[in-house]
Amino acid sequence: MLYDITRPLSARTAVYPGDTPVSLTAVMQMRDGDYCNVSSITMSVHAGTHIDAPRHYADGAPGVDALDLGILTGPARVVTVNAPERITRDDLAGLGTIAGAGLLVHTRGSDTPDDVFDPGLAHFTPAAAEWLGEQGVRLVGIDTPSVDAAAGVELPAHKAFLKYGVIIVENLLLGGVPDGLYRLIALPLKIVGCDAAPARCILLGP
Ligand SMILES: [Zn+2]
Repeated sequence: MLYDITRPLSARTAVYPGDTPVSLTAVMQMRDGDYCNVSSITMSVHAGTHIDAPRHYADGAPGVDALDLGILTGPARVVTVNAPERITRDDLAGLGTIAGAGLLVHTRGSDTPDDVFDPGLAHFTPAAAEWLGEQGVRLVGIDTPSVDAAAGVELPAHKAFLKYGVIIVENLLLGGVPDGLYRLIALPLKIVGCDAAPARCILLGP
């Protein structure tokens, strides 16, 4: 079984308030007599489903092109968490985190329409992020725009994950995906030194 867990990118895609929306511009158009269609795109690298690089929250840290492709194409467990807003360590304990694998957390965020930014997005408490790092989880994905609270500027969960080298995938779409163990394929565009990149993410199996 193959699940596409990527949000569609279009002008409707919600972005963080103040961030650059997705905009496609036709550079060449066959209907205007050009010999082919060519588009250009302007967008925040954090729009839609994307992967954060350490550079996002630490100046001089590696960019998205340096992320470990083995982890991004490795095993990952999908778990449903019904926390209204803050995902705590207690919400995650006992769900079957696997050292060396990824953990994708399915929240009510998957029900948020593509064109809506939810300021009350589900996110990890710093203690929960720290605990996941201690468990040896190598990648954490969530179906909301951030692993941290929308209003915060300190990014404590991002920084806890960075401390343990945990790769962060944000804005996944996990509706209709049963909890279980899968192979994740999450490949960010190879944008040199960039703080994030959009990614097509799929799950294979079980
Ligand atoms: Zn991001």
